[in-house]
Order: sequence, then C-alpha cells, then structure tokens
Amino acid sequence: MGMNEQKQRIFDRIDQNAQAIFARSRRLFEMPELGYREVETNRFIRACLEDWGVAYAPVSYTGLLVTLGRGDPVVAVVADMDGLPKRAGEGRIHSCGHSLQTSAALALIEALRDEPLQGTLKVIFTPAEEMIDFEYRQALIRQGLVKYPSGKQDMIARGIFDGVDCVLSCHASGEPGCRFDVGSRLKGFVIFKAVYTGRGAHAGAAPFAGKNALHAALLAQTAVAFLKDRFDPKDGVNVQPVLSEAAGTVNIVPDHAVVETYVRAVTEDALFAAAELVENCLQRCGEALDIETKVTRRPGFLPLAQSRQINALVKENMCLLCPEEDILENLISGASGDVGDLGTLLPTVQFGFTGVSGRFHGDDFAVTDEETACLCPPKILAGTVADLFEHPVSGRAAFPHRKAEYLKTWLGE
Ligand SMILES: [Zn+2]
Ligand SMILES: [Zn+2]
Repeated sequence: MGMNEQKQRIFDRIDQNAQAIFARSRRLFEMPELGYREVETNRFIRACLEDWGVAYAPVSYTGLLVTLGRGDPVVAVVADMDGLPKRAGEGRIHSCGHSLQTSAALALIEALRDEPLQGTLKVIFTPAEEMIDFEYRQALIRQGLVKYPSGKQDMIARGIFDGVDCVLSCHASGEPGCRFDVGSRLKGFVIFKAVYTGRGAHAGAAPFAGKNALHAALLAQTAVAFLKDRFDPKDGVNVQPVLSEAAGTVNIVPDHAVVETYVRAVTEDALFAAAELVENCLQRCGEALDIETKVTRRPGFLPLAQSRQINALVKENMCLLCPEEDILENLISGASGDVGDLGTLLPTVQFGFTGVSGRFHGDDFAVTDEETACLCPPKILAGTVADLFEHPVSGRAAFPHRKAEYLKTWLGE
C-alpha cells in the first residue's frame, strides 16, 4: 500500500482534469435540488457519463448507478446529490456540500474509466439524503415510485447493495484546524410525533366540559425535560421537543396539540433506550390527563460506526496528500446521515474533507478551497478502492441476515 505506480497514474490524471473538475463542481453547486427532485443533477451526470461512453442504470427514482470493472471484490462508492432550502427567502442551496460528493464521484469515474481494475467498483449517485420535504416523499411512496423517504434506505430495500463487500463515502466537513477527518461517529435518530386530541368548550362558561389538549402537550414536554438527567453524556443523547401545532382561541379550551421531536444518540443501544423513555412520556402524559393520545414513531437514520479496517486505508491515502497532523481522527459529530444505516449492514466509511466555509445548512455555505474540496476526495476514494481491491474488507457473508433484520425491525417492512 502507500503510493504505487497505479495510484500515481490515477492521481496525475485527476490533477490533469482539475479545470474540468472545478467547472463541474461549480455547475453542480449552482444546481441545488431537493431530495427525489434531482432532475437537472441527474441529467448533468448522465451527460458526463455519455460523453465518456460510460454505461449507467437508473436507481431509486433520481439516482444513478455506474459499474466499472468486474469480478470480486465489489466496492461501492456512494455520493449524495441533494440540496436544501435556503433558510431565508425562496430558493435552494447546496449547504451540506453534497454537490462536492457528486463532483467527486464523477471525477472518480473519469479517472478510472480506462483503468484496469482488479474488482468491481459501483459508483452510486444517491438521492434524498436530507430528511426533509416529507409530504412530497410520502406522495412518491403512495404512488409506488420510491419505498422510503431516504435514498439509501430505498436502495438497500431495492437490493442495490446485495453482493457488495463494503461501502466508501465522503462528506464536506467544517472541522477547524484540519484538512481531513477520518473515523467520525455520526448520531442516529428516531422521529416522534404525538397528537393530543381533547375536547373544546367555552373556557369561561364551561371549562369543565372540555379537555385541554395543550396541557397534555406541556406535561409531556416537561416530562421529557426531566428525563435528561437519565442520559449518560457519553451517549450524546439529544432530545428537543417542539410544540408544532396547537389550537389557539383564547376563550375555548384547546382541543388539539401536537408535539414533535427527534431523539438522537451516538450508539444504537443508547438511541433505542432513550427513544423508549421519550415515547412513554409522550404517551402517558396524555393518558394521565385523559386526553386522546396518538404517538407515531418513524425511523430516522441509524448511528454511523465506521469500519476501522477501511479507515486505516483511508488514512494512508490521506497521508499521501497532507501531513498526518492535518488529519483529525475519531470525532463524535452531532450530525446524522443515512450512511449510518449502511454502516450497520456492511463495513462502511465516510471521511470528511474541508475546503468549505460558512455554516452547514446555512445560507453562507461556500466552497473556498477547490483543491481540498474537489481534487483530494476523488484521490482518496480512488486510492482506497485500489487498496481494497488488493486487500478486500468484506461484510458480504453477514449481509443477507443483517438486511432481513434491518428491514423488519428498523424500517418495519
Ligand atoms: Zn445535511
Ligand atoms: Zn450532508
């Protein structure tokens, strides 16, 4: 491992393509589309692939799959495609930097398309990573166009990762004082919505004839706040309930209130334990006040625990590009991603690269260092793929069992 002739050739090719890579990356950054609406992005990717004579297949509505090489091992590289709404005003922005992932995947294909590969590389342009725009996605689900609101969950369910040995991905990172990060943990989350239905009544003349749904919502939020003592700081449990709807006429007893919250944690055990406590508070506080209570629980994403074995390779490849002290290891991030779900099924990594400024999911997000943000990620991916072809890391044997379990207990199929 380390540098070898093939890697040098691939890295040189990426450097030679730099101007085209920067131009594509800028175009993609200016083309932000929400999840499962990545139509222009899809068209842009297809135009590049057709230009290069690279075959592709559509996956998960707006996603695309490119297969290079043949035989074992089978390494998947996943690249997010979706953008976010701007925080202020109309319009959208690539404020999670997913355009850089799409750009990296294209640069990777461009650099490897004529390269003899000692295995199969699946490059998967993955839609709908951000868990937003839920009504639109529910409509797609009802129409049978997708199965799940997250692109990776949809792809897992459709069998796109069947027969894959391991998964590589990268994400923009805002960590100060480093160039790359490796081995970060992402939190998982579970989504709750509690609907409290009471009974309206004249608040002055006959409050006793009513049932105040808002009281149930407030009691539940208070109970959740009391829970916080129960969470070990190392588990990173985070619960922020909001009152998202409430009946609001001052002289009528409120008959309707809704509390919504994510429950987040660093490990699956901590996540499910915390989720159960929160669910009990949401449910029983309503019941305690004799308010009709309906709590729905939906899967968010699972926590990401990365493959140490593959990350050792990722780090070696980073070290070809920068001094070791510029690499941050084993961060615990407060963020989540649907790559966490993949990490429970297959050896998976998601390394971070800097070269961006502004706040993630903020309107000031920008790409500031194109060398780091656009050229390094495809090099690290290509180098790691080459290493994995020589020294495979595989979770393929355990995958069918894990997937069956995952579909049943997490996605509730
Ligand atoms: Zn994001
Ligand atoms: Zn993201």
